[in-house]
Amino acid sequence: MDKKYAVPPYKIKMVEPIHLIGRSEREERLAQAGYNQFALKSEDVFIDLLTDSGTGAMSHFQWGAMMIGDEAYAGSQSFYRLETAVKNITGYAYIMPAHQGRGAEQVVIPQLIKHPGMIFISNMHFDTTRAHVELAGGEAVDVACKECLDTLTYYPFKGNFDLEKLEKVIISRGKDNVAGIILTVTNNAVGGQPVSMENFRSVCEIAKKYQIKTIIDGARYAENSYFIKIREKGYENTSVREIAKEMFGYADIFLMSAKKDGLVNMGGIIAIKDDQDLFRKCQTYIVPMEGFPTYGGMAGRDMDALAVGLDEALDEAYLEYRIDEVRYLGDRLKAAGIPIQFPTGGHAVFVDCGKMCPHIPYDQFPAAAVGNELYIEGGIRSVEIGSMLMGRDPISGKNRQSDMELLRLTIPRRVYTFQHWDYVADSLINVFNRRQTIKGLKFTYESPVLRHFTSRFVPMP
Ligand SMILES: *Cc1c(COP(=O)(O)O)cnc(C)c1O
Repeated sequence: MDKKYAVPPYKIKMVEPIHLIGRSEREERLAQAGYNQFALKSEDVFIDLLTDSGTGAMSHFQWGAMMIGDEAYAGSQSFYRLETAVKNITGYAYIMPAHQGRGAEQVVIPQLIKHPGMIFISNMHFDTTRAHVELAGGEAVDVACKECLDTLTYYPFKGNFDLEKLEKVIISRGKDNVAGIILTVTNNAVGGQPVSMENFRSVCEIAKKYQIKTIIDGARYAENSYFIKIREKGYENTSVREIAKEMFGYADIFLMSAKKDGLVNMGGIIAIKDDQDLFRKCQTYIVPMEGFPTYGGMAGRDMDALAVGLDEALDEAYLEYRIDEVRYLGDRLKAAGIPIQFPTGGHAVFVDCGKMCPHIPYDQFPAAAVGNELYIEGGIRSVEIGSMLMGRDPISGKNRQSDMELLRLTIPRRVYTFQHWDYVADSLINVFNRRQTIKGLKFTYESPVLRHFTSRFVPMP
């Protein structure tokens, strides 16, 4: 890699101490946690790469904005400031806050299902999105492009839809049975991989042809827009803000977990382009689910922090550094021969543990096993995105096998430094060098739903 890495476009004003407990303590805590890193206490973690969701640092402008939060139950000034920020970015007419992304999903998704058995089609449903589709009586169908499964080969937009498959599904299921097309940007599950503008536009054109609504699941829309700027021909000189505006222009609805590119610790957004009827339905439904439509589960002060954070996340110096941080960690691992999803995406480095530990069968969860070893090595917490997350087939009861066994090293926004990434890389390289000795996991307790959160394990003998 010849391109240098960007320097952080901010300096540190407040610090939070972190502490590395001893190795034997780490072994003990992990055993107490049933070899499930979700059960660790954060105080026992040195560098926490579990998620980028709600784990970012706010700027002094955001903290300052919190002081003018208006906590009125209805018609809060904070809401109107947030509404203005979202309207400026999206160009959409109808805006409602939600307590987080899944709050937005639980309000909007049921409104789109007109009869039982309707489907949503997505490049890849995020897990809570899939859950809300299924809870509302729908079915979630994924049509990711096949390039995303080839972790070793460079492809600039591994988040893309397979357009042929998309149209095939619409035709075979019948357009009247498609409740909506969900564009997940970036595509988290395959590595925070972006969707190109060309692909995005084509998906929306196909949707229009069949009169199907398009929903942006846009937790990381700013990162996706930045990738379009640096990787897609013709967008080099377009601002990230304009790129985002173009994407919003093609779609109908925007749902956002503001815990990512909103740069806040909690919050969500529902934005509807022009469908007043849908807005009114959501407005009625949001009251019992999330709260009155001008607060939707958010405190006034939090809406103000979000209004500021949305603009900061579109700052190109910030985005350049953010994407470079991920690239730097990825480059260090790749240089050591560790198989990763390449190129790196927006919010995490994904280690291909199926390739790293082929001796561990999928139903002994190679990525979780490597993650546990990384915790013991360096006090670093990560997360499995593989067959453990997939759960069991509800009919056969068999473990579902994921296409990839990935370990996600998720990068919180504006939190860690390049020294932390060196430490993480050095620790993982040590684990990689003893990869043959890593043992798979077996259940001692298997939780029946979303099992990755609360199940307990022991290492195989
Ligand atoms: C995080 C996320 C969600 C859910 O948002 P929460 O704020 O965690 O409820 C939905 N979709 C995508 C793509 C996400 O990354």
